[in-house]
Amino acid sequence: MKRRTGQNREITAKWRPATLAVRGGTARSEWGETSEALFLTSGYAYDCAGDAAARFAGEQQGMTYSRLQNPTVEMLEQRIALLEGAEAARCMASGMAAMTAALLCQLSAGDHLVGARTMFGSCRWLTDNLLPRFGIETTIVDGSDTAGWEAAVRPNTRVFFFETPANPTLEVVDLEAVCSIAKAHGITTVADNAFATSALQKPMTFGADVVAYSATKLMDGQGRVLAGAVCGTEQFINDVLLPFTRNTGPTLSPFNAWVVLKGLETLDLRVQRQSDNALAVARFLEGRAPRVLYPALPSHPQHNLAMRQMERGGTILSFFVRDRAQAHRVLDALELIDISNNIGDSRSLMTHPSSTTHSGLSAEVRESMGITEGMLRLNVGLEDPADLIDDLDRALGAAGL
Ligand SMILES: *Cc1c(COP(=O)(O)O)cnc(C)c1O
Repeated sequence: MKRRTGQNREITAKWRPATLAVRGGTARSEWGETSEALFLTSGYAYDCAGDAAARFAGEQQGMTYSRLQNPTVEMLEQRIALLEGAEAARCMASGMAAMTAALLCQLSAGDHLVGARTMFGSCRWLTDNLLPRFGIETTIVDGSDTAGWEAAVRPNTRVFFFETPANPTLEVVDLEAVCSIAKAHGITTVADNAFATSALQKPMTFGADVVAYSATKLMDGQGRVLAGAVCGTEQFINDVLLPFTRNTGPTLSPFNAWVVLKGLETLDLRVQRQSDNALAVARFLEGRAPRVLYPALPSHPQHNLAMRQMERGGTILSFFVRDRAQAHRVLDALELIDISNNIGDSRSLMTHPSSTTHSGLSAEVRESMGITEGMLRLNVGLEDPADLIDDLDRALGAAGL
């Protein structure tokens, strides 16, 4: 089989992100297809028994089983690594599979992890419930308080875990400062970059060791499939992550990988346009709602820091109304924007975090994260922003705002 990969690192290293998003990682089969092929196969056949043995011994290049390798999944992994500027990446079945693998692959009983207070609900479930069950101690800090990260370090601290901007408070972690504290103590930083994506923020350029993704969000970008990814050095991916994922099997399906490959082709276009729309909507809301959280607004408490490490404000904002009843009234009055807890979609979606995405956390934990009963989170899509503003204007009016 002749595969014109065209993916010699010396060539791709010269390509800019928009080019990588369309072409990075493409490996063509003997048919020369222009669009990436979808290899729906669980296994691979060998020409002879000796080849099978050599491949299992790692002496011959090639694939053995789709829990371990698949050509379509591999194309996506290479594209993601190139976009991130990482040495390597591996894809998982969902964002949570990626987060769980990125942590469990490197932590053992007796180790200690420091995590940011404000995180995706299931990420907090990992730090608060899962890891302690296996003897891994966790300390939760205010992610925006750099001194708090330093103060939480113990001799057995192995990992710093955070997302920036965080879901749903848009709280920002100072990547450079927190990663340099980690480096000084030999701690691995795991940064969840789902909200910004490589189109707006590259945590590794600020010193992050591992960048993990829900590719369900902006990478697919059209609300179709679940997927996740972990990016890191060759050494981390091959020696630490792969032994864990190959044997536990949180593998991404080739079909979903193919869908995300197609999604990545328009990642930059979508993120730029959705950020334009989000800024327009945030400015409108600032005049109408008591409080708006959006990193590109000067009113965001960490606006300057956010704009130092992110190109744009991103596609998601949160705003506050009086209480749960009023928040539900706003949602129920929407005609265009859907009531939905997903994000990263090209459709505008709104949710009430305290009764949906973060309802599994105790009221105390929610309160400490700044998720009040009046908070609404809005994923701004690709619709005409004037239509979104009309819809919000009517819904806020109907709720008495
Ligand atoms: C959605 C999300 C996840 C989980 O991803 P899934 O693909 O839903 O499993 C993790 N972190 C953040 C920041 C998210 O928004």
